[in-house]
Amino acid sequence: MRVPTVCPLCKHRMGEPQPRCPDCRGDLGPLVQVIDAANRKFNEGVRWARKERWRLAAEAFSAALALNPGDEEAKELLDMVRNNNDRGHKVG
Ligand SMILES: [Zn+2]
Repeated sequence: MRVPTVCPLCKHRMGEPQPRCPDCRGDLGPLVQVIDAANRKFNEGVRWARKERWRLAAEAFSAALALNPGDEEAKELLDMVRNNNDRGHKVG
């Protein structure tokens, strides 16, 4: 995972999503599921971008960001695919 996961209960920073916070032992199962979903959408966006399907890629990155708003990499890629979309041709 690209973004450090922060426990919503005690703000403990974890290297990666875990089902239970190592600090406060809070149940993070739902959080892990959301991040998993965000990662799937992110990867979907990368696949579409490779095929130069910019609109589909933007939708996938938008969904990833909605699920995980702290994902800076998804933000950057969303900006990139939107720029490609606007210009209507491949860059680079
Ligand atoms: Zn915690």
